[in-house]
Amino acid sequence: MDPILERYQALEDKVSLYTPNLDTRRLFEAFTYADTAHNGQLRKSGEPYIIHPLAVAEIVADLELDVDSIIAALLHDCIEDTDATHQEIAKRFGEPVAALVEGVTKLTQMQFVTKEEEQMENLRKMLMAMSRDIRVILIKICDRLHNMRTMEYQSPRKQREKSRETMEIYAPIAHRLGMQKLKWELEDLSLRYLDPVGYREIEEELAVRSSAHEEFLAGIQHRIQQRLEQEGIHCTIYGRVKHIYSIYRKMFAQSKTLDEIFDLYAFRVIVDDIPGCYNVLGCIHDMFKPVLGRFKDYIGTPKPNMYQSLHTTVIGREGIPFEVQIRTWEMHQTAEYGIAAHWKYKQGLANRKLGTEQEFEWVRKLLENQQDTDAEEFVSTLKVDLFADEVFVFTPNGDVVNLPAGATPIDFAYSIHSAVGNTMVGARVNGRMVPYDYALQNGEIVEVLTSKSAKGPSRDWLKIAKSNEARNKIRQWFKKERREENIATGRTAFEAELKHVRIPLSAVTSDEVLPHVLRKVRLGTLDELYAAIGYGGTTAAKAVARVRDELLRLGRLQAEKAAAAARTTAESVIVPGSTAPSTNTPKRTESGIVVEGLGNCLVKFAKCCTPVPGDPVIGFITRGYGVSVHRQDCPNADPSRRRGEEAARWVKVAWVESSLPAYRTSLEVSAKDRDGLTLDVAMALSSAKVKVSALSARAQPDGHAIVNIEVEVRDKTELDAVINRLNNIQGVYYVARASGK
Ligand code: MN
Repeated sequence: MDPILERYQALEDKVSLYTPNLDTRRLFEAFTYADTAHNGQLRKSGEPYIIHPLAVAEIVADLELDVDSIIAALLHDCIEDTDATHQEIAKRFGEPVAALVEGVTKLTQMQFVTKEEEQMENLRKMLMAMSRDIRVILIKICDRLHNMRTMEYQSPRKQREKSRETMEIYAPIAHRLGMQKLKWELEDLSLRYLDPVGYREIEEELAVRSSAHEEFLAGIQHRIQQRLEQEGIHCTIYGRVKHIYSIYRKMFAQSKTLDEIFDLYAFRVIVDDIPGCYNVLGCIHDMFKPVLGRFKDYIGTPKPNMYQSLHTTVIGREGIPFEVQIRTWEMHQTAEYGIAAHWKYKQGLANRKLGTEQEFEWVRKLLENQQDTDAEEFVSTLKVDLFADEVFVFTPNGDVVNLPAGATPIDFAYSIHSAVGNTMVGARVNGRMVPYDYALQNGEIVEVLTSKSAKGPSRDWLKIAKSNEARNKIRQWFKKERREENIATGRTAFEAELKHVRIPLSAVTSDEVLPHVLRKVRLGTLDELYAAIGYGGTTAAKAVARVRDELLRLGRLQAEKAAAAARTTAESVIVPGSTAPSTNTPKRTESGIVVEGLGNCLVKFAKCCTPVPGDPVIGFITRGYGVSVHRQDCPNADPSRRRGEEAARWVKVAWVESSLPAYRTSLEVSAKDRDGLTLDVAMALSSAKVKVSALSARAQPDGHAIVNIEVEVRDKTELDAVINRLNNIQGVYYVARASGK
C-alpha cells in the first residue's frame, strides 16, 4: 500500500477509536481534496506536502478533537497555499469547517516581530481573540508543533525566527490552555534552535548519566509501587527526568550546574479516585522525608488552567530530592491536554460544539481568572477579555494597539497621539482606504494619513469614536479651538483699550516690560491674558490699568538704573572712586549685597545659580535691570565672559554681614529610586529647619530619581548643613546646587 495512504488509514483508525459512527467517507474526501490541492508541492524535507497536514491531523486526533477539527487540520494550508477558496470548502465540508480553516489561515498570515513583554502579551491575546473558536488555536498549535518537529530542514534564520515565535507566543498559549505536554515539546524544540549549545550541553549530560538516572527512577518507582500494593491502592506510576527547557531555565535563572538543580526528577502516581490521591500522599510522606513548603494541593484549589494534582517534594535515602505528582486519570487527561481534554468531556456530556456563547463564557472565565504562581503573568492576564470587548490591530510598524470593540480609524489615530488624530485626513486598512466609521477587525494593519494642513477633527467624530480616549481628545481640541477664538476676541478688546489710553502695544510687549506685566496679572503668556479677557475672566480695562501702573513703576526704576549704570562705568573704567559720592564705602542695600562703589541700586539674584550669603559672588550691570548677582562659579559668570566688550559691566559685589531674610536656592538630589525617597528628603529638610518652597521628584528611566528642591537659607553655612543631611539619606548619589540653566 502507498505509504501516504497507509498514514491516512492510521489517522482514520485513531479518530474512529474515539468517534462513534465516524463518517469515514467524509474524512477520506477531505484527505483526497487536500492531497489533490497540494499535488506537486514538496516540503523542505523533500517529502510530498500532504505529509504535513496529515501529521497535523494526527496531533489533533491525539487531542481527540471532533471530526470537523480533523478535517480542518487536513485542509489547514489549502487556502493559504493552493487555489482552494472558503466557498469551495464550505460547499464540500460545511461552513464550520471552512470557518476553522480560514481562522487557521489568518493566524498563519500574521507576522510577528519580537517586542517587549507587554507587546508579546498583546500579541497572544490578539491571537486568541482572532481565533474566536478555540479549536482554531488548538489546530494552529498542532500545526506549529509539527513545523517545529521538522524545523531541521529550514534555513538557520527561519529556525531562529520560528523558534522565537514559538517560545514567545505559542508555548505560553499552550500553557494558558493547560496543554502541558504540547507546551513542553514546543519549548524543548524551540530551545534547540535558540540556544543550540545550551540545549546540547544538557542533552549530552543527561545522556551520559542516563543509566544512573534510569536506575534511580526505577529504584524509587519500585519502592513506591511495592508500598502502595501493600496498602491495597491500585495505581500507575511514571518516573521521568524533567524536560530540557525546564532544567535549562533553572540552570540559567539560578546559574547552577545540572548537579545542583534541586528537583531533576518527577514521579507521577495516577489513581482511580480523589481519596486515593490523599492515601498515596500519606504513604509517600511516610516513606520519604518531605521538603518543607513544597506541598501543594491543586485538587482542593485547582489552577485556573484547570490543572489538578497533589504536588510534593521529598528526599529519599540517597539524599536526592524528587517531586511526586498525584492525580486521578481524569486529572491526568486535563493536565496533558488542557482545554482540549476538558472540551472533549463537555462534548461527551452535552454533545455540544464549541462556538456557542455559553461555551465561550467558561473559556473566557478561565482566561480571565488565570492565576499562576507567577504573579507577573497573573497581572498580565487579568485584563484578558477575549471575545467581546476588545479588538487588536497593528500599526504599520507591527506594534499591537488594543482598542474597544467596534473601534474606528479615529480611535486608532487618537490612541497613537492626539496630534495624529487632529491632523488625520484619511486611513488605510491593510493597504486600502476606508471610511472614518469603518469598524476595525482583529489583526488588521491600520495606517493613518495625516496632513499638516488638516482642519482638525469634525464634531461628527465624537459620534463615530468608540473609545473615551479619542472622544476626550477631540473635546480637548474643541476647547482649545474655542480658546483660539477667545484669544482673538481678547486681543481685539485689549488693543482697543490700549489705544484708548494712548499706550502703544509695543510698549507692553517689549522683553523688559512684558514679564512684569504678566507677573502682575498672574498669567504666563500674553495669549493667556488675551484668552482671559476673551472668556471674561478679566476685562480689557482692568488689564490695561495694571499695565499702566506697571509701566509707570518700571519707568521710574529704569531712569534710576540708567543713571547708576552710567556711574559705575565711569568709576571702574575711567577714574575709580573720584566722582561718585559713595567712593570706597560700601553701602548696604536691602538685598544684603553691597556693590562696590554703588549706593542703593537695584540688585537681583541670578536665577541661574541662586547665590546665598557666603557664596563668592560677582555682579553684572544689566541694561536697565540693575545689578545681577551671580556665584563666581556660575557658567554665566565665567571669566571668559568677563573679558571683551562687556568687561566694564562686571563689578565686584560682596555680602553684607548681617542677619537678613532667607535666600532661596535650588538643589538637585540624585538618588536611587525607591519608595519613601521623597519622604526621607522632606524629613531631612524639616529636621534641618529650613523653609522649603518647592520640592519635586521625578523617576528616571534607569531606576534613578532626581529630586529638585528649593529651600530658603540664611547663608552658606546653613546651606552646607542642609546638603550634608541630604547626603546622608540612604541611596543618595549626590546633592548639587542647581546652576547654569
Ligand atoms: Mn501548516
